Amino acid sequence: MTSHTPEPLALDLPPALAPLEALATNLWWTWSLHRPELEGVFKRLDAATWERSHSAVAVLRAASPAALKALAGDHGTVARLAAIAAEQAAYLARTDTWFARHFPDQSDRCIAYLSAEFGLHESLPIYCGGLGVLAGDHLKAASDLGVPLVGIGLLYRHGYFEQRITASGGQQEVYPDHDFGQMPMRRVIDEDGDPLVVDVPVGSRLVRAEVWLVMVGRNRLYLLNSDIDGATERDCAICGQLYGTERPNRLEQEELLGLGAIHLTHRLGLRPHVWHMNEGHSAFQTLGRIRRRMVLEHDSYEEALRVVAARSVFTTHTPVAAGNEAFDVELVKREITSYCQAAGIDVEKFIDLGRQKNPESESGEELSLTVLALRLAARANGVSRLHARVSREMWSHVFPGVEIEDVPIGAVTNGVHSQSWMAPEMAELFARHLGPEWSERLTSREWWDEVRTLPAEEVWRIHGRLKERLVKFIAAREALRCAREGCVPQADFDPNVLTIGFARRFAPYKRANLIFRDLARLKRILCNADRPVQLVFAGKAYPTDTTGKGIVAEIGGHMQDPELARRVVLLENYDIEVGRHLVQGVDVWLNNPRRPLEASGTSGQKVPLNGGINLSVLDGWWPEAYDGQNGWAIGDERERADAEVQDQADADSLYSLLENEVVPEFYERDANGVPTRWLARMIASMGSVVGPFSAARMVADYTTDYYMPTVAAAHDTTRG
Ligand SMILES: *Cc1c(COP(=O)(O)O)cnc(C)c1O
Repeated sequence: MTSHTPEPLALDLPPALAPLEALATNLWWTWSLHRPELEGVFKRLDAATWERSHSAVAVLRAASPAALKALAGDHGTVARLAAIAAEQAAYLARTDTWFARHFPDQSDRCIAYLSAEFGLHESLPIYCGGLGVLAGDHLKAASDLGVPLVGIGLLYRHGYFEQRITASGGQQEVYPDHDFGQMPMRRVIDEDGDPLVVDVPVGSRLVRAEVWLVMVGRNRLYLLNSDIDGATERDCAICGQLYGTERPNRLEQEELLGLGAIHLTHRLGLRPHVWHMNEGHSAFQTLGRIRRRMVLEHDSYEEALRVVAARSVFTTHTPVAAGNEAFDVELVKREITSYCQAAGIDVEKFIDLGRQKNPESESGEELSLTVLALRLAARANGVSRLHARVSREMWSHVFPGVEIEDVPIGAVTNGVHSQSWMAPEMAELFARHLGPEWSERLTSREWWDEVRTLPAEEVWRIHGRLKERLVKFIAAREALRCAREGCVPQADFDPNVLTIGFARRFAPYKRANLIFRDLARLKRILCNADRPVQLVFAGKAYPTDTTGKGIVAEIGGHMQDPELARRVVLLENYDIEVGRHLVQGVDVWLNNPRRPLEASGTSGQKVPLNGGINLSVLDGWWPEAYDGQNGWAIGDERERADAEVQDQADADSLYSLLENEVVPEFYERDANGVPTRWLARMIASMGSVVGPFSAARMVADYTTDYYMPTVAAAHDTTRG
């Protein structure tokens, strides 16, 4: 299909360690059962590099000849590495996948999946939050199921940002310069062995972008990077910061993503049958394809629109205005007019597809990428049933004359990649009780119920160990932070104490500070001598979001309160690693967004994989899962017009639940010290969440209900 290959790492490994290169250059190992063992090997090779980067490639590059020689002489480990590499090779070579069974003879299909962020592993910091982690989990599950998907995104020099919590508890942003050569990926080279360069029209210039390849199991993720040798400062800035704060820069990022995807696939010889836009950031890909159809196939504009729409899928991820990308029409015109003119596209007509009024924007009009994508994708969906309903209402004006319930926005509820978020000890228990191939059965409804047969007391014991690990992690992270900031760690977490976690972006609608509304009441709950509770928080606020940063500072301030200091901690720099520790170790996961603004939420789906239980507002995915036995629902399904009234009602409900149900149930023990009622809830939580809210189920739904119907319906149209 293509002669373009990844650049070799050019390592000087002893032959016995050759399997390490195959393992390091594919993220498969990060979700395999051998993860702890391999992490041990990487640590042995170069502990400092491992601690700093968590990147297998960085470790292999940095390892000293002496360390490599010592490892190569350890025959036991060498044999293990060969066996694990063989297992990886067998995974990659499998042909009897879910996709092959359900869609025989369709393996040559190609689904392009476009996203501004991908959250795959902490060593690849090109994600901000839930949207990116979801995209990462989507790629991993697609690989497991054998769905032929290619991811396309951007590579950012500074990533999103690194968050520091200062001595006084406020957020400070740090923008490190990432060295791409240290990340678990390789640059793509051309026929001559030089870096492959794609020229992407941005505004009226061509931006040169190199291409990096991340192997995600069987599937590929290509990342464009314009921050290359010889590039102008402005071109470099396009790949500077994820979700750059300057509007012209952000628009250029989205041109590079959308139009770049078209030029990239063409250059690689890929001809996608389906183009999936994960949120509106990549919506300019439609313009690129329209232009291609008109120039290469001599389609009329209308014909090109039809062909492009027939092969497009669009997922909208949020009803929050700031999450629905829109640009001032004048800015857009300055950027895309020459691109449109070259193909005879009437730029005003194209902008009409997503034009909306906005008195606050400079020209009074803006181009909404969500509206554009809705009009140019034959299939669209929201990310939970509630969110789809809210979206149909919110975007009904895009479909005049259509009844609200008939607005063509379906629902595919998000899910999480089980093997990535489940602790190895729990995965081992699953293997022992439900069969070593349990992760192959995530799409099977019969298997979902089998989860309820797990031995509760054993789950409890394992969860206890995970909690101890979390408590140590918190102490270690706080020690590092306080050493840097010159303060004294205050938190004194105890693995026997009921532990509640809250971690997500500190967007104001998520109300991280809701639980602090009545401080006296909260103190009575946390500081009860017999039945104490400890709270762990983590999350970044967008750099220009002063309200969000105020919430960080407020919680950071509570860390200094003499009564709360022992029992409240705000961990800095929430990322996939911090997230993994939290979702594996907490007893309860707190989620209290202002309904219905949390389109789905996924962090709560990671917790039951490890024996944790959800305490959540009935928003996003939770109304589909909550059954009265498997967790708790904060508040009711009423939405009050007055935010203050809503906040007070939800806070009251939260306190009552903690006082009357959560805390008593946790501390109620039988003669053997086992919390029987708690365990029943824990097993109900696992049984009702692990299967139905897995990324395997989600990707199977996308494939069956969106991708393959798109392939079939677009059969009569030439590929565009
Ligand atoms: C899962 C995850 C999220 C998503 O959290 P929500 O509950 O959807 O807000 C965000 N960030 C990280 C690092 C995650 O692992």
